[in-house]
Amino acid sequence: MVKVLYNGDIQEEVLQGKKIAVIGYGSQGHAHALNLKESGFDVVVGLREGKSWDKAVEDGLEVTSVAEATAAAEVVMVLLPDEMQPKVYEESIKANLQAGNALVFAHGFNVHFSQIVPPADVDVFLVAPKGPGHLVRRTYTEGAGVPALYAVYQDYTGQARDVALAYAKGIGSARAGVLETTFQEETETDLFGEQAVLCGGATALIKAGFETLVEAGYQPEVAYFECLHELKLIVDLLYEGGLENMRYSISDTAQWGDFVSGPRVVNEDTKARMKEVLKDIQTGKFAQGWILENQTNRPQFNAINRAENNHQIEVVGRELRALMPFIKNKPVNAKKEVVV
Ligand code: NDP
Ligand code: MG
Ligand code: MG
Repeated sequence: MVKVLYNGDIQEEVLQGKKIAVIGYGSQGHAHALNLKESGFDVVVGLREGKSWDKAVEDGLEVTSVAEATAAAEVVMVLLPDEMQPKVYEESIKANLQAGNALVFAHGFNVHFSQIVPPADVDVFLVAPKGPGHLVRRTYTEGAGVPALYAVYQDYTGQARDVALAYAKGIGSARAGVLETTFQEETETDLFGEQAVLCGGATALIKAGFETLVEAGYQPEVAYFECLHELKLIVDLLYEGGLENMRYSISDTAQWGDFVSGPRVVNEDTKARMKEVLKDIQTGKFAQGWILENQTNRPQFNAINRAENNHQIEVVGRELRALMPFIKNKPVNAKKEVVV
């Protein structure tokens, strides 16, 4: 098994006395900035004026422009949306990096796919929590953490690995486990996971199940509970104890159905499609499409997003969730219609 590192394996002194600029204050940014500050590190947040700026000030952080934060810091963590990073990097970060600084990412996309080409005289590494930013923050406040991957792309100072580990410890990830990867592995596995399994695979499976039941004449509300709501309860069991734990909790009838029908739905054909998805990621085809989509103001993203939000499962789901006050019913689509 690969070596997973925990708090006791990591020295944080290498990061003490260094100023850390957290660029962006969104999902990951707020979590990194607040966790690092509460871990005793010197943090400045780099932003443009607007909603995030006001929030970071309200949260008691030092906030300044991206250019000034970069210039003031030795460690610069870029936590802007991936598609915005190359532009902000060119305009405000690049010229303010000094030799020996560390340029840091939470996802390898822009470096791996050559959208950001860092200068030769800085350290470049990533610290990528394997979970949503809001959980990086929440688990930290609860004394726990979200596991993270780290990878060194360029080691100018000879300290890149130690600084990366200290950073991971600072955001609380070494409470859960930190493990080494490469930019290539992090980027390709992250994209594959979200496309084939976690986001794309899961939403396609849910919709196909819902549509199958509704088209057969069953009530949409019943189909919603069956194919979407209950998935969370099943996933909790998987998370806590793997497939075996989930199967221990369900009835033997459900388990027999799992064995005989699961492989009929997700089968060798599905796996062949997954391999195609992976190939498109590895060859840069997916990255190129996404970069072009952003350069043309997201015509397909916005059109598909509108249609998806009007799917019957979404309409029924909104109504049912409103009747379950214990579910935090977040307004949908708050962040989506982005124009880059
Ligand atoms: P968000 O979309 O949540 O970040 C938005 C932040 O970026 C806001 O504070 C926004 O400020 C700021 N921003 C956007 N454009 C600019 C600009 N031009 N100048 C200055 N600030 C700007 O990003 P995420 O946290 O989702 O992602 C950040 C990185 O972390 C990405 O590389 C992503 O792949 C990675 N990652 C994300 C995960 C997640 O949980 N979301 C999980 C693991 C990795 P404003 O309010 O002014 O718009
Ligand atoms: Mg991702
Ligand atoms: Mg991910």
